[in-house]
Amino acid sequence: MRDLRGFMEELEAGGELVRVEEPVSPRYEIPAILRRFDGGRAVLFEDVEGYDAMVVGGVCGTRNRILGALGVSAGDLYGRLLDAVRNPTPCEVGDGPVKEVVDEPGLGDFPILTHFGADPGPYITSGILYARSPDGSVENVSFHRLLVLDGKNMGIRIVPRHLYRLKQMAQEAGLKSMEVSISLGLHPAVLLAASSPAPFGICEFKVANTLLGGGLRLTECEHVDALAPADAELVLEGRLRLDEEAAEGPFVDQSGTYDIERRQPVVELVGAMRREDYVYQALLPSGAEHRLLMGMPREVRIWEYVRNIAPTVRGVNMTLGGMGWLHCVVSFEKFREGDTKNVLMAIFAAHPSLKHAVVVDSDIDPFDMEQVEWAIATRFRGDEDLLVVPKVRVSSLDPASDQEKELGCKVGVDATRPLSKPAEGFKRAEIPASDRVKRLLEKYASGS
Ligand code: MN
Repeated sequence: MRDLRGFMEELEAGGELVRVEEPVSPRYEIPAILRRFDGGRAVLFEDVEGYDAMVVGGVCGTRNRILGALGVSAGDLYGRLLDAVRNPTPCEVGDGPVKEVVDEPGLGDFPILTHFGADPGPYITSGILYARSPDGSVENVSFHRLLVLDGKNMGIRIVPRHLYRLKQMAQEAGLKSMEVSISLGLHPAVLLAASSPAPFGICEFKVANTLLGGGLRLTECEHVDALAPADAELVLEGRLRLDEEAAEGPFVDQSGTYDIERRQPVVELVGAMRREDYVYQALLPSGAEHRLLMGMPREVRIWEYVRNIAPTVRGVNMTLGGMGWLHCVVSFEKFREGDTKNVLMAIFAAHPSLKHAVVVDSDIDPFDMEQVEWAIATRFRGDEDLLVVPKVRVSSLDPASDQEKELGCKVGVDATRPLSKPAEGFKRAEIPASDRVKRLLEKYASGS
């Protein structure tokens, strides 16, 4: 059994969890502290003003922590995630600790954070929603932000992907609402599976179960016909209304800028299940964990596409600075001069929202942006090595593009060394290290 609190214990043992004992408010105060620790340690708020529950944030705040949660190295991540998407395994269904308390609360009973100064209200940002098709044959699990409208209703952002399609199927079947579960407080593997681009028809809980080696248990909800992880901290049981919309947004998306306000569907809260001493999981919009959970599953697809052209791919980095969505660095072994532009086109085909891609040789660590910049400085020529694709669909999150038509420009940067010139001129010079120097470095500079 793998759950959030087990993972938090691992973080604490590794010195990666900060406990804040002093009282703090979920309105701006917790988000401000999470932002200060963003990309670093996770933070547990033990005394949340006005609530009994503790709040934790930043759990998936570093790449290494997510890799550690899955028990894989950076290089093995792609194969493991692809394998899980291709081999989903059914979860055991039974009771679990999330049923310790079953009741009909209001949304005001939960310490839902209000993050940024111009937010329209508190937002649930770490919840994953489970829904099935009217005939029960298709199950889907996906992340959705939920704006608290009042004590019972939430505005839900649904982009035209799988839940949107399920909603259309329900409308075509003449239904007025869909029964859904929204689960919070989960192991990182479940969150990563929920954000992975699995094809329509594949239940992301089953993907998570494969990732966890059979460690994900589900349970039947008490108030709605839906499943949820039995080891979640909190499950909100709701009805997704098909006959009602409300204003949703503006919300700070992973860009760190405000998205626009839209008319979106409404989820009505009909009940909840939770652990007695549940921990409310927060996720700071635009923070490192938002960007990592969005970006890492995309890296897998890019890796898959690039491998068709260049079999040896050292790594794919959807960079944090590129908000885990618009920028990508791929390090690979180049055999022919013409490979690089094909690799750049494969990257753009794998992730149509991408704006800028940089390809580097396999001696460059794609996760070390200083090395990447060095490769651009020493191996790139603007007149030969640039691929510019004007008037092409880009992300709606790119404020520099025509956001209404989603038209922008993609740029590929080939920062691999030209094969026509001697390799020696592009190598980083090395200093020979004697055994004595190695011992001295071990003594004085280990860990520095
Ligand atoms: Mn899906």
